[in-house]
Amino acid sequence: MNEIKSVGVIGAGQMGNGIAHVAALGGYRVALHDISRDRIQSGLATITGNMSRQVASGRIEDAERKAAVERINAADNLDDLSEMDLVIEAATENEQVKKKIYAQVCPLLKPEALLATNTSSLSITRLAAATDRPERFIGIHFMNPVPVMDFVELVRGIATVDETFNLAKAFIDRLGKVTAVAEDFPAFIVNRILLPMINEAIYVLYEGVGTVEAIDVAMRLGANHKMGPLQLADFIGLDTCLSIMQVLHDGLADSKYRPCPLLVKYVEAGWLGRKAGRGFYDYRGEVPVPTR
Ligand code: NAD
Repeated sequence: MNEIKSVGVIGAGQMGNGIAHVAALGGYRVALHDISRDRIQSGLATITGNMSRQVASGRIEDAERKAAVERINAADNLDDLSEMDLVIEAATENEQVKKKIYAQVCPLLKPEALLATNTSSLSITRLAAATDRPERFIGIHFMNPVPVMDFVELVRGIATVDETFNLAKAFIDRLGKVTAVAEDFPAFIVNRILLPMINEAIYVLYEGVGTVEAIDVAMRLGANHKMGPLQLADFIGLDTCLSIMQVLHDGLADSKYRPCPLLVKYVEAGWLGRKAGRGFYDYRGEVPVPTR
């Protein structure tokens, strides 16, 4: 394959719909899949809303929006991804879920198709080994929100060949995003550094050193961060935050990565952050209100 022309996306959640959005604006034909038609439709509705906002703020022309929307198709079945040159898996951060998806989708793909994962933390080498194409498997780690963040981590597994890397890099270049290469170690670069900070902020809350508001304002104004760490945790999704801490803890076997029990409690409550309407803040009213 000389060039990627079409992209399948598995998972139409926060990341998957963002990836479909930027790929369609980049001129690629896109097929978006999730476990149910409702989820696909809700992903498509998010894309339409976000693109309209980009038009309103002058970042894209209305004609570009229209053409991009027309390039995206709902893929009700995994079969609908069979003609795609690149399939990016952006499903829930759970190794078993991802491996099950690969077992289902690999036999349907063209032999030369590339398979990528948007995992935030899992081993690319281990995920690749669960596919029929480890040499054509790669980590393409987009940042959230995908249409806004101009950065992507590229992570090769032990078997990833140069052709796969070069095709993936050319795809990201065409989206106008900057790449950095990370070695395949737990949570790569960004989350290896970011998540322990977020987890520490949750410990600071858990130990009563500061309130939700105090912690966030302290890091916004005291450390000049754009968002407070608890606000950011809600934005990422607390289930994803917990998974990443577990991967760091298991993968690096160092107690400094132990997930804070308060993070575990929020996840067990289903208070997963913005996407669930409640996390360290309650988003169901006009303005976010701290939940502690
Ligand atoms: P999300 O919960 O918003 O979306 C996950 C989607 O995957 C859901 O719509 C779910 O229905 C779907 N899904 C689950 N099982 C599936 C299956 N078998 N087949 C098809 N779809 C399935 O989560 P998200 O934040 O979009 O995260 C997705 C991936 O992106 C994870 O691997 C996560 O680590 C990674 N990621 C997340 C962020 C972030 O800030 N949230 C940033 C970078 C990467």
